[in-house]
Amino acid sequence: MTLSGLEGHSSGALPAGVERLDLSAVDALGLDIGGTKIAGARVSPDGEVLAQASRPTTPDNPEGILDALAEIFHELGGKETLSAVGVAVAAFLNAERDSIFFSPNIAWQNFPLKAAVTERLGVPVVLENDANAAGWGEFRFGAARDVTSMLMLTIGTGVGGALVDDRRLLVGGFGMAAELGHIIIEPGGRLCGCGSYGCLEQYASGTALMRDAKERLGDDSLTQAALTELLVQRNPDALGALEGVARAIGRGITSLVAVTDPQRIVIGGGVASAGELLLAPIRESFRETYGAGNKRPIADIAVATMGNSAGVVGAADLARARVASEA
Ligand SMILES: [Zn+2]
Repeated sequence: MTLSGLEGHSSGALPAGVERLDLSAVDALGLDIGGTKIAGARVSPDGEVLAQASRPTTPDNPEGILDALAEIFHELGGKETLSAVGVAVAAFLNAERDSIFFSPNIAWQNFPLKAAVTERLGVPVVLENDANAAGWGEFRFGAARDVTSMLMLTIGTGVGGALVDDRRLLVGGFGMAAELGHIIIEPGGRLCGCGSYGCLEQYASGTALMRDAKERLGDDSLTQAALTELLVQRNPDALGALEGVARAIGRGITSLVAVTDPQRIVIGGGVASAGELLLAPIRESFRETYGAGNKRPIADIAVATMGNSAGVVGAADLARARVASEA
């Protein structure tokens, strides 16, 4: 099946490598607006971070966020040396990628962010959802750089997702595709922040891991650092909590693979730092729930390699590619 991709919205398929021909020597700026911090990076066409800067996010002062974006832009080179800017933001964006419907962290509603940032910076700007931008970073330069289709799950406070099919980022008809944390894996299960019951995010996030570990250990004051230490020591309750999360991820992956058939599944986010402790039970759960696994090729599962820079690098690369395709 072919999934419609964002690059297709504006100018048809962008063959791999075209952006290098058009903007081969051009550095781009990637900006990632998170709940507490705005990260910025000057990124080479090869995905290398050349310089970084950041500012605190001011959730109640959207104008302050625009000021911070402009400050980072000037600090990292400005108009003279940066000809494309990619902005990743934790928000629902429209399919045209010029406006924000809603952001859980920032007081932006139906806000034309692309025009606002373009006006401030005076260079072409592209917008992308933060999980999609991170997924694109891993696809282009990280754990999925050698495949053409990828599914990424970012296991953090919640569960973020990104899908790439045939080298295109899936955006969806309304712009909100790949909200993979909200597929339902336990009908009638735990209430999710989105209003549904039994979403993957309620069982497979860092939040779910902490909740389960506190329950098993009978320790309400357990910190992330203490849990990490217990995992290193192979504490059975801590391992049990991690395995529960891993098995939920595995079940979620089974449903997602049935729809998207990726070559690689990338697991990112803070919880992914557990490495094989997390991946082994994910693989086991995936194999158990996935039918006909021995009669057909099956996606391999890998840990993300780019860490926190995936979002800014992905945003910068998308900016370069889309500006090239629109030129
Ligand atoms: Zn949900």
